[in-house]
Parts: sequence; C-alpha cells; structure tokens
Amino acid sequence: VIEARNLMKSFGDLDVLKGVDLDLLKGENLVVLGKSGSGKSVLIKIMVGLLKQDSGAMRVLGKDVANLGVKELNKLRLKIGFSFQNSALYDSMTVKENLEFPLVRNIKNLSRKEKDKKIEGLLDSVGLPQSINQMPSELSGGQKKRIGVARTLILEPEIMLYDEPTAGLDPITCMDINNLIVQVREEYNTSSIVITHDLTCAKVTGDRQAVLLDGQFDAVGTFEEVFPHAEDKRIKSFYDYNF
Ligand code: ATP
Ligand code: MG
Repeated sequence: VIEARNLMKSFGDLDVLKGVDLDLLKGENLVVLGKSGSGKSVLIKIMVGLLKQDSGAMRVLGKDVANLGVKELNKLRLKIGFSFQNSALYDSMTVKENLEFPLVRNIKNLSRKEKDKKIEGLLDSVGLPQSINQMPSELSGGQKKRIGVARTLILEPEIMLYDEPTAGLDPITCMDINNLIVQVREEYNTSSIVITHDLTCAKVTGDRQAVLLDGQFDAVGTFEEVFPHAEDKRIKSFYDYNF
C-alpha cells in the first residue's frame, strides 16, 4: 500500500534521505527505527504530502503523492490516519468534541445518532468509554494518546502512521498502547507504520522491522532477523542498550 523508491531528501547541505526503498504491505504493521534525526518523521511527512522529496518516488495506495493536486491529496489524506509525534488534542474541547471534529469536517450527512454511535464505539475500542465528557487536561498522558488514536481512527483510514506512540509513557502504559496498536490492526484492518525508539514496542507491534541508518534502510525483516544477532555494530548496540 506504500512504496518508496530511491527517495532522496536534503535540507540545504544536510542529506537526510539518501535513496530510501521501502514497502508497506497490505495488512502489516511495519516498525521504523533509527536514531534521532535520521529522517523518520521526514519520511512519513513525504508519505502524506507535507514535504516533497528531491527525487525518487513515493506511491501511497497507488498514487504518486508528489504529483497530486490539492483536491486529490486531500482525498488521499482522508485514507491515512496520521498520529503526529507529540500530537495534541484540542484542549478547549471535550473528548467527544475532539472526536466529532474530523467527522463534522469531512463527512456530510451523518445523523446525530450515527455520529454518537461511532464516537462511543471508538471510545470503547480504546478502553475509555467513561471519558467522553472530560477535557483533555483531566486525562493522563497515556489516556490522551488513546484518545488521539481514537480520533485518528474515526474516519476509518486504510493506513495508520504512528510517530513515536509510546514516547514519554511509563512501561505499563507503553504496553497498553502497544496492545492497542495491534488491536487496531485486527479490528479495523489497517496497514500501519509505527515509528519508535522503543524496542519492546517494536517487538510487540511489528510484523517487520526496518532500520534507517545513514539515509537508507539497512536492515528490514522480522524482529528475530534484524536484532538479536545483528552484524552491524550500530544495530547491535541499539539492541544491547535496550535489553
Ligand atoms: P526523532 O527520532 O528525533 O523524531 P527523526 O528521525 O524523526 O528524529 P526528522 O524529524 O525526520 O528526524 O529529521 C531529520 C533531519 O532533518 C533533522 O536533522 C532535522 O533537523 C531535519 N529537518 C526536518 N525537517 C526539516 C525542515 N522542514 N527544514 C529543515 N530541516 C529539517
Ligand atoms: Mg521524528
């Protein structure tokens, strides 16, 4: 559902992506790892058309993202749920209003009843039905993440992009979020990319792992293939540091 081919992106003198090839297969969860500043967020911004590559191709659901018109790009974006790094909820809106917002903006002719049903269903899915009338300031960090995931799911995306979903959470809450990511894939039939620094998150959520090293994907495969016996010193030290 996503194909990157020989993708290059520089900012001035800084070459960030130097020939990236990557496939996201239908129905899989693909974990993207790589040290801070390696270009993970840049890569997913190119996927959703927030940044344009210098050369190479990025096809998402069969569309060449860089060459889409505004209308087509917006149409494509509706099929991609993008949970930004540090993505915040709207602080002045209740949880319910936060979930309602994308619905009202993007889907016309939805009755009050249908809207409520969708919102309640998603809050159940993320395990927070009781928070419906709370304000974001009343929620914990992990609860906010869950609501963020629910809000992203409300338009029924085909692809989910999670940028560091467990950053800053305690290990138990991390596990909850990891399980939620796995559950979302089963329940909503999504294909997902999960960007993380957390190898436990990688192991639990990823069908495959892809490590971005020096502007290219060096190792791509299952967790067992990529990690415990990695020959590349940088990948090995990443693993040893985490376990
Ligand atoms: P982290 O793990 O810390 O989130 P990352 O792998 O997501 O890191 P990116 O955000 O993709 O890193 O950034 C890669 C590099 O590109 C960084 O050096 C960053 O400063 C640079 N960069 C990203 N966006 C821009 C921009 N719009 N203009 C200039 N430089 C940018
Ligand atoms: Mg990032």
